[in-house]
Amino acid sequence: MKVRYKFFATLLAGMVIAGIGIHLASSGTLVNSFSQQDEARAKSELERVEAVFGQIVGKVHAQTGALAELAPEKTLTPDRVTKLDLDGALLLKQTGESDLWIGRGSLSQTAAENLIKSNHLVELAETKPSGLSGLVRTPAGAFIASFHKTADSRWLASFKEVDDSIKSQLSRVVSLNLQWSPVLPAGSQNRFDSTQSVWVEGSSLMGTALLRDLKGQPLLRVEAAMPRSIHQLGQETTNWMTLQIVCVGAIFIMVVSYATMRHVIGPLEDLGNQVSTIGAGSSGKRVVVQEDDEVASLAFNINQMLDRLDDGSRRLQESQDALKRHNENLELIIAARTKEIEYQAYHDKLTGLPNRALFLDRLSQALRRCFRTKRTISVLFIDLDNFKLVNDSLGHDMGDALLMQVAERLSDAVRPGDTVARLGGDEFTILLEDVLGEEEPRQVAKRILDSLKEPFMLGSTEAFANASIGIAIKTNPYESAESLLKSADTAMYHAKGLGRSRYVFFSPQMHEMAKERLEMETALRKAVIEGDITAAYQPLIELKSGRIVGCEALARWHHTEKGSIPPSVFIPIAEETGLIVPLGWKLLEEACYQAMILRDILKSPDFIMSVNLSGRQFQSGSLVTVIRQTLEKTMLPPQCLKLEITESILMENREESIDRMKELKALGVYLALDDFGTGYSSLSTLHAFPIDTLKIDKSFISRLEEEEGAQAIVEAILAMAHTLKIDVTGEGVESEAQADLIRRLGCQLGQGFLFDRPLTGEGLSDRLKDGTYPQAEEERRAA
Ligand code: C2E
Ligand code: MG
Ligand code: MG
Repeated sequence: MKVRYKFFATLLAGMVIAGIGIHLASSGTLVNSFSQQDEARAKSELERVEAVFGQIVGKVHAQTGALAELAPEKTLTPDRVTKLDLDGALLLKQTGESDLWIGRGSLSQTAAENLIKSNHLVELAETKPSGLSGLVRTPAGAFIASFHKTADSRWLASFKEVDDSIKSQLSRVVSLNLQWSPVLPAGSQNRFDSTQSVWVEGSSLMGTALLRDLKGQPLLRVEAAMPRSIHQLGQETTNWMTLQIVCVGAIFIMVVSYATMRHVIGPLEDLGNQVSTIGAGSSGKRVVVQEDDEVASLAFNINQMLDRLDDGSRRLQESQDALKRHNENLELIIAARTKEIEYQAYHDKLTGLPNRALFLDRLSQALRRCFRTKRTISVLFIDLDNFKLVNDSLGHDMGDALLMQVAERLSDAVRPGDTVARLGGDEFTILLEDVLGEEEPRQVAKRILDSLKEPFMLGSTEAFANASIGIAIKTNPYESAESLLKSADTAMYHAKGLGRSRYVFFSPQMHEMAKERLEMETALRKAVIEGDITAAYQPLIELKSGRIVGCEALARWHHTEKGSIPPSVFIPIAEETGLIVPLGWKLLEEACYQAMILRDILKSPDFIMSVNLSGRQFQSGSLVTVIRQTLEKTMLPPQCLKLEITESILMENREESIDRMKELKALGVYLALDDFGTGYSSLSTLHAFPIDTLKIDKSFISRLEEEEGAQAIVEAILAMAHTLKIDVTGEGVESEAQADLIRRLGCQLGQGFLFDRPLTGEGLSDRLKDGTYPQAEEERRAA
């Protein structure tokens, strides 16, 4: 609703309320006072009626008085009575008896006499010197009675009926239309208990006056209707006043409205229109300031506010622009970062090759693509052999450099469209698409193995890296990426198991083997806990005398269902699962006890028990403590125990290994380097290790007879060992010829089936007792 309408409505309502209020208040008080005046006037009129009636009575009394003063017998004549318009006149003796009666009209003499008697009017008149006059009630109606004492002391009583002439005379004198009615005698119900009464009836004011008899009792009632002239005048005056107020109010409204419109609402509306035009987008515009009043001040304030708004919106625009630029930069950075993260999420950081996720994704896509074609796809799983050794011996930087070079060679070995990925560590995979049969992956595997044969240059150091490769070819149309990769992985494990540096195609039986391996693992765990794995002892023979100088404890597991399981099967599993540690310590203890028995049989204090130590045992923090405690527990002298460690264990962390070996040596035990020649150590590094014995691997011994090269190697080993004052044991001696040959080459000790197979503790004890082995003189004597 517009302000002007609200304003007009308020003004109008105010005026209407004020008008009504004034009208009601004024009419209430004025009209009320006018009504009171009317009533007062009516009462005075009624008093006048009574007064005038009194005058009429007085007049009758005066006229009859003149009659009494004269000699009544002469003056009281019917003519005189008629002239005086009396209805009757009675002359009474002093005794009260009637003397003369002149009657007219309805009043009889008897009635007049009874009236006088019953009302004791004579006695009453005696009390009034000027005589008695007033109204009296007769059976014929109301009469004005007048008593005068005559000159001869008689009484003249005259009666005049209150007839129409008196009534009209009264009406005429008081100028009122009077209604006459008799008042019932005393004792009857009478609503008029006062002389006068005034009430309103319609537009007239009604009033009654009571005319009383000689004794003061009401006798006649006179009712008069009087106009309410003052009240009417008051009413008209207030109406006129109200009209005037309304007119003045209307003029007032018009004047105030004009002034308000002209000076307030009009300028405000104009200001509002200007502000809305500016608000609609006319930036920079300002409202026009006119006059010098509050509206102008408001306009001025609005202009100031608009200035500030413009300033604010300019600054806001600047901030938004800056924010937009910042956002754009941020989006570019985020896009670049997202790209980088995506790249990192799908690529190997070191080599830049696709990682496992991307490889699996590409493999899945390739599998979908070749779903309906005859051509298939193949996955190669490549794992470097002994990479950990390179890492540990040459450091992680060198290891990383090797991996990068391997990645390059792998990429060179495949077609441009094939995917080479690094899954992590030293594991790589290759996806060959669009292949037919086994030939293509075989060629790739061969190329890889060939390319790896070339030495890698890591700075100035030369290094070699072999790899085991598992190849899986998709044969099942519903093959999944994960299962194909798993198959290649399984095949790779088989390649490792078959001696590494080779490739193997996956066959479904491998899964069976994997399952078997799992079963084996479970059975092994049980066997270790239940003590089903025991030690067998293979004699160590002094070659020049054939004497037994010690034995090697070798683990033996007799499975209740599968029979004897060779260490080459369960030892690697025990190593992988960590079971080798509890097993190894148990066998060590068993071997130490057995050594005590064998020493006792032989009576030889130099009998040495050799015990194999796995890498995990060697690296365990409790190594020295456990060995010391075992020796203490079994009471075996430390110089009767030889611990065999493979060279690969020592090479993993050379410096630390040397420290550990020194700690073991400090216990007093001997150390042997087992399977020498199969690992990475070279003769030149031997001097660094504090070893007492070097065990030449059986693969050299077995080749001695056929290969001259093998003989040369053994010769070189022995020469170096002699220089370093290290004993040498030939492992796997199976023939006299081999024994002769190594004996001639200077090897002190031999171990092999030629001399004895590994035996149970009792078996070896029996063998020692039955003299199979020649004994030294002192031993024999002692025995
Ligand atoms: P190793 O320590 O080099 O043990 C010598 C292996 O050569 C034994 O095989 C032994 O039976 C075998 N051998 C001895 N003479 C001949 C021979 O004339 N011809 C042939 N062909 N073999 C011969 P075994 O008992 O099967 O043990 C294999 C390997 O398992 C051991 O090689 C050793 O590395 C590991 N091993 C065995 N027992 C334990 C053990 O208690 N702890 C640990 N850590 N490794 C063990
Ligand atoms: Mg050994
Ligand atoms: Mg060996």
